[in-house]
Amino acid sequence: MEREDRAPRLAAEFPKLKNLKLLMTFKRGEVTVQPQHVRVIVVPRAPALFHVPCIDPECRRGGHEITDIVLSALRSGRGSFSGACACTGELGSAAARCTGELLFEGVAEYA
Ligand SMILES: [Zn+2]
Repeated sequence: MEREDRAPRLAAEFPKLKNLKLLMTFKRGEVTVQPQHVRVIVVPRAPALFHVPCIDPECRRGGHEITDIVLSALRSGRGSFSGACACTGELGSAAARCTGELLFEGVAEYA
């Protein structure tokens, strides 16, 4: 949360950005863990920071850092973009690598 508070606002970085939503699907291997859902970003208040927590509650130090992908798409004024990001966390006492993967699509509208 502290990191989000210190981050620049999306609206300050991208004054022309009007709407942004992210369509996110979580997978593990070939299995879809959570079907696609839409996250609507509240542009005036949102930080310019996109870290999506791992969907697995057992995962430690996990998550999907998609800030760079999202910000570079917005910087080039793209209306749609997509990407994938593997979780870097660990699972269980053997500290096995979490194999969670986030697939996302972004839809942006500009003034
Ligand atoms: Zn994970």
